[in-house]
Amino acid sequence: MTPSASIAAATWATAHDDVVRTLRDLIRIPSINPPPLDAPDGETRVARYLADRLTAIGLEPELVEPTPGRGSVHARLRGDGTGGDPFLLLSHLDVVPAPPSRWTHDPFEAVVDGGYVYGRGAVDMKGMIALELGVVERLVDAARAAGLDPAHDPIPGLRRDVLFTCAADEEAGSLDGARWLAVHRPDWLRAAGAVNECGGVSVTVAGRRLYPIMVAEKGFAPYRIAVTGTWGHGSMPRADNAAVLAARIIERLAVPGPIRITPVMTRFLEAAAAALPGEAAAVLRRIAAGEADPTAADAAIDAVCDPMYARALRALIRDTLSPDVVTAGVKYNVIPGDAVIEVDCRVLPGTTQAAMRAEVERRIGPDLLDACEIEAIAWGEPVESPAEGPLWDILVATLRDHDPEAIPLPVMAPFATDAKATSLVGTPTYGFSPLRLEPDERFLERFHGVDERVGLDALRFGLPVLYDVVRRFCG
Ligand SMILES: [Zn+2]
Repeated sequence: MTPSASIAAATWATAHDDVVRTLRDLIRIPSINPPPLDAPDGETRVARYLADRLTAIGLEPELVEPTPGRGSVHARLRGDGTGGDPFLLLSHLDVVPAPPSRWTHDPFEAVVDGGYVYGRGAVDMKGMIALELGVVERLVDAARAAGLDPAHDPIPGLRRDVLFTCAADEEAGSLDGARWLAVHRPDWLRAAGAVNECGGVSVTVAGRRLYPIMVAEKGFAPYRIAVTGTWGHGSMPRADNAAVLAARIIERLAVPGPIRITPVMTRFLEAAAAALPGEAAAVLRRIAAGEADPTAADAAIDAVCDPMYARALRALIRDTLSPDVVTAGVKYNVIPGDAVIEVDCRVLPGTTQAAMRAEVERRIGPDLLDACEIEAIAWGEPVESPAEGPLWDILVATLRDHDPEAIPLPVMAPFATDAKATSLVGTPTYGFSPLRLEPDERFLERFHGVDERVGLDALRFGLPVLYDVVRRFCG
């Protein structure tokens, strides 16, 4: 029996309504990052809203604001101390901008329509904050029912502390959020394990319900490449026009690189192949075995995968380079002597910063390298948490308990999350924000997308799953 089964159905129904109310309240406080000039304090306002909710149920939350307007909030529920290090419910408070023109409903009105809550942050990641707060409220209920003070007494049944930490600034590198916390308030992040965004969400492929759980994520290594040519008159073209050199460099950078299968992706591909029928399984097995050459592998992926998943899968089996910024020129009749390219490189676990830079130089080639000055803009280490052990086993078993057809499997994120920051304090972090979706939902497209929305039934599924994970890991 799951721990959640000992709570009455009517209580879960009320708890679900509270989750939806929380989510809608959170969406209606725009916490856009980068903060717009006319509303620079959205993150702090969301942090204050959560602090008020936590205070209202008798907890003693803390709020920090390393930079004005960029608040993060935290609360701790106590266990009896016999179970080891805490468990962390992690989230970020900020959202990306949402120009409203193509949305069905205003992105900050939190309209409920057709069984979905619409709004920026519905999936990334205010829905998960609402679920996490819902779990905290159930734990506080248990303390109150036993006549205890939830701020100071151990919660009945908890052997380790539960940390509730919502950080600012995830969407722009976390320097005012989780990275700041890792240095100044490591007690908010340090735990035996954490759950965070981007995983535990069902994906239906060929009628099978897969639940990828994020156990790893790629690193990032963006570079700025200054290209030097010669200024001149546009009436007399030059071969060393910096715009022309930049164009050639961009073409070389953008070629898909060789495939390298990391241990996490071997497990993902083998588990997905075991779950899927026919040709799709055969393709995944060939890639897992390292047999396919890059061009053939990409073509095979395109043939069996939805384009959205194909793009993700191609990115997860190689280091990627995406030239995303190019600037050159001042006027149509002036040959530019300078151009700038910014290339977004994402590295697999095992690729070093030096190796990535060497690859950028190799692709530019000796004939063009002399014209280039390469500067590293940033570096984010790839991170990996074990897809085994007690917490992993609980994540898998709990999904199966709530969805008997669930096929949980470990996967890597092609992008970065606050798991980069928690890795600095040694906290294994799992992308696990449990949602059971309708078979035709294209969840990945909702991240940062138009009409971002989350299903009411998906949230109804997620709350007891998350509760059971906490109860089992901390019990
Ligand atoms: Zn996010």
